[in-house]
Amino acid sequence: MGKRKRIRIKKGRMAIFLLVTTTFIAAIGMSVYLYITGLPTELREAVTEVDAIPIITDFVPKETKGRPGQERRIKYIVIHETGNAGRNADAASHNNYLHEEADNQQKSWHYTVDANEIYYHIPDNEIAFHAGDGLEKGGGNLNGVGIEMCINPENDYEQTLINTAKLTAMLLKAYDLEISSVKKHEDFSGKHCPDILLREGRWDEFIGMVKQF
Ligand SMILES: [Zn+2]
Repeated sequence: MGKRKRIRIKKGRMAIFLLVTTTFIAAIGMSVYLYITGLPTELREAVTEVDAIPIITDFVPKETKGRPGQERRIKYIVIHETGNAGRNADAASHNNYLHEEADNQQKSWHYTVDANEIYYHIPDNEIAFHAGDGLEKGGGNLNGVGIEMCINPENDYEQTLINTAKLTAMLLKAYDLEISSVKKHEDFSGKHCPDILLREGRWDEFIGMVKQF
């Protein structure tokens, strides 16, 4: 065997070695990444009501600023209030708002709840922009399902709380989450939200309601 041939064989072996090593490292890297972030959660079965409260599904168009369509692992249910005290600022009007603004701004959430109905705007297993923490790892936008409670003056706030607690309980069951997964917007960005609930010191009461359903 001539010297040149030996070198060529060595080069061939080296290429195979590098290929195997690179593939191995890539596979380990991917596994570690998925271990840390979790596989995207499978979407729950579609329902049209929770405990007789209608859920109206009207998804915001995909591949818009508000709904980029990125799937993720669900780790939290994030509770908000709309902060919108104008007349008729109910769940339906917030649904219209999200549809109208989908192309214009990175502002979105999954559900809006009022005393009579629930609008479902973005699939639970996709990111939305409600927690004010960008796409921080383990954050509210990346891993949370955002629920907005209406506070418009003609709306019954107490019934809205009950409806939200029922929706939250349904989601905890659907995604096999603990009660500790229920978070306030405030937990992620420090914004005083859900404002009325926190001002009145009723967060623990709300958690108690969720547990009860
Ligand atoms: Zn909020």
